[in-house]
Amino acid sequence: LLGFGALAAGAVLLLPLAALASRSNARRSVADTLVPLQGVADDMARILPEDLSHRVATPTGQQDITELATTINGMLDRVEHAHRTLESFTADASHELRTPLTHIRARVQWCLGEQRTDDEIQEALSAIQREVDRTTKMADDLLVIARGENRQLSVDREEFDLTEVVHEVEEITHAMADGKEITVSGVANDPVLAVGDANRTRQVLLNLASNAVRYTPAGSVRFATEQSDTMVCASVQDTGIGISPEQLEKIFNRFYRGDASRSRAFGGSGLGLTIAKVLAELQGGRIEVSSASEQGSSFTLWLPRSDGNLRKS
Ligand code: ADP
Repeated sequence: LLGFGALAAGAVLLLPLAALASRSNARRSVADTLVPLQGVADDMARILPEDLSHRVATPTGQQDITELATTINGMLDRVEHAHRTLESFTADASHELRTPLTHIRARVQWCLGEQRTDDEIQEALSAIQREVDRTTKMADDLLVIARGENRQLSVDREEFDLTEVVHEVEEITHAMADGKEITVSGVANDPVLAVGDANRTRQVLLNLASNAVRYTPAGSVRFATEQSDTMVCASVQDTGIGISPEQLEKIFNRFYRGDASRSRAFGGSGLGLTIAKVLAELQGGRIEVSSASEQGSSFTLWLPRSDGNLRKS
């Protein structure tokens, strides 16, 4: 009993001490956490919209806080990448729009000069109209790309027959190839059911077909369709100038033009394949390309295959 009394008395004496000790332990562990957290906050305060290159220093000395800092750094990488993309998009677009505007201004100034004949002015106005049409198309294309990349473009998810779309594109391709030594061959009538947006798909295939015709001085443009278990595809194959391996990496970049496109008086905008890629991906599909210099190119649009349960609305 005495022993217990002494123990109890000891406990009574020791308990406040223990409480004091644990309170100061707790305070120390809060401080241990707060110091690295303060470091993270200081680093974050240095990150400004005009300079997104700073990062939070790691390791922080506290595992949980280091994990937090790593997550913040990952988010900053993504924000910086998006910011750079937007910056270069704006810079590229302004540059590309300046060129035709400079041409238009030069022509207008020429028209305003003295002693121009009516015929000369008429001719200059036609040239101005072509430049205006081209610039308008470029602005429209840029809008599609910007909206598409931000997923703000409406895209149907309906069952449609890819063969029908290919037939329409074939017909237009015949017209585009008019006056050139190009044979256009098409696909049979067998239905190939895809899920997606028939109009957007037509736009993709028209871009591919117009390239095939433009980059084939003489030869053939051939359409084909195929299906696998889950996907269907339409391909456009040409026997034209082909694409070198170095160019192949860049052709889907916006405003990228190969030499053949650049050397034309009214060359392409370099946006056709960017649009095609964006529209394919928005439909859950993709574009594959195989090509070699001087041997022609083959572009294939893959789309999800319909399992027959989706019906046209
Ligand atoms: P462009 O308006 O210049 O045709 P695109 O985005 O449609 O722009 O194509 C980008 C570049 O890819 C072209 O400038 C050209 O160099 C190359 N290219 C695209 N399709 C073909 C093709 N069928 N054959 C050869 N080169 C092609």
